[in-house]
Amino acid sequence: MQDAAPDLIHAVIGFRQWRLRGSELWSLRSDDRWQRGVHTAHCLSEPPHDGPAPQNGCTCGIYAWYAPPPRTASAATSDLVAGAIAAWGQVELHAHGMRVEHAMVVALALPFSWGAKRHGVEAAARDLEVPAVPARRLIAAGREHGELVPRAMRPPDLTPNKRAAPGEPDPARLYAVADGLRQRR
Ligand SMILES: [Zn+2]
Repeated sequence: MQDAAPDLIHAVIGFRQWRLRGSELWSLRSDDRWQRGVHTAHCLSEPPHDGPAPQNGCTCGIYAWYAPPPRTASAATSDLVAGAIAAWGQVELHAHGMRVEHAMVVALALPFSWGAKRHGVEAAARDLEVPAVPARRLIAAGREHGELVPRAMRPPDLTPNKRAAPGEPDPARLYAVADGLRQRR
């Protein structure tokens, strides 16, 4: 925890992958459907701690990376879709990604192919009322809704050759990000 660090005052932009089921977006690691509007994390520990998720020392919170996943990670599959989220509330920063309290999808990446998957992504984007954009434009589409986490605010990478999932291990830095999307609730 860096006391002197500046707080971010706008929503931050992160990137995730979901599993596409028809035109529905589902989390990869939990049975959790993402729908239009705000998605809020809850602690799933037994028993859950007080206060918001994420919390230091726990694994709760919505996970997101600082940069889009490699295009090859989803292009070759029939059901993985990448997208950008805007995040705010309690935000814990790790070397490659973050865990956040509140998030909403702000853009989805279109696959290269023209088949069923593309139709699914387009339908999902319509349901979420967000744009479906070519993968190379995902960062730009996200930045219309907030800012990328500045590199200087990210903890150092202790495993430089691994694209580790956000979460453990530490060090992590905890920030409060102001509700930059109040008008969209
Ligand atoms: Zn927790």
